[in-house]
Amino acid sequence: MVAHDLAARDIHDERVLAAMESVPREHFVPEDLVDAAYEDRPLPIGAGQTISQPYIVALMAQEARIGAADRVLEVGTGSGYGAAVLGRLAAEVWTVERHEDLARRAREALEATGAGNVHVDVGDGSLGAPDSAPFDAIVVTAAAPAVPDALVAQLADGGRLVIPIGPDGHAQELVRVTVRGEHSERAHLCDVRFVPLIGAEGFGRIHPGQQRRDGDESGPDGPRTDPGTPPEP
Ligand code: SAH
Repeated sequence: MVAHDLAARDIHDERVLAAMESVPREHFVPEDLVDAAYEDRPLPIGAGQTISQPYIVALMAQEARIGAADRVLEVGTGSGYGAAVLGRLAAEVWTVERHEDLARRAREALEATGAGNVHVDVGDGSLGAPDSAPFDAIVVTAAAPAVPDALVAQLADGGRLVIPIGPDGHAQELVRVTVRGEHSERAHLCDVRFVPLIGAEGFGRIHPGQQRRDGDESGPDGPRTDPGTPPEP
């Protein structure tokens, strides 16, 4: 998978390729899907969520330009797979998941694969993790309507935020925001499809008379269960 789906495309960062090589993805997928663990596609993990496609995990890690001494925040733990990869690249990783159930299973998988530098928290990650800030890099694995101010505010000087932005819940672009002093610059990376970020700085509004069940990830245009799908090269 690493050679065929990553290195043969545009994943050229040797540290990212080595990290992808070293994390056993089968620990992060449901038992009945273990046979598909090394296919380059997203897979369902319960609660209407999915583990991201390996290519997109690698791409986000590469574009976040993570150094070995970095403190990194991931928003949207899901299976914990992306956090495990970030854990191999950075000094310390905090990852936030809004579903308690997913967070618990991710914690178990991370423990089983020896990711001792990854901390899993339950909460609304659209607000970041103020108690652990500042971060050298923040990776968001669900699409927000706009770049959340709270996340930019938690970046160290020179810090990078990699996040899918899709104002209407449909067309999404992966962007990188880099903070330099008082300024920040924004770069378009590619078009993508992720599940929506549900939260105060995500798609958080519940209209009067409308109810949302826990686990219903409906964005403004209905459920989305296909995070981490990039356009064909
Ligand atoms: N990185 C994951 C993929 C996660 S899919 C992996 O490697 O498996 C996106 C995840 O974001 C889902 O689990 C969803 O529940 C979570 N999510 C959505 N909005 C969130 C929020 N505001 N805070 C934390 N997690 C959120």
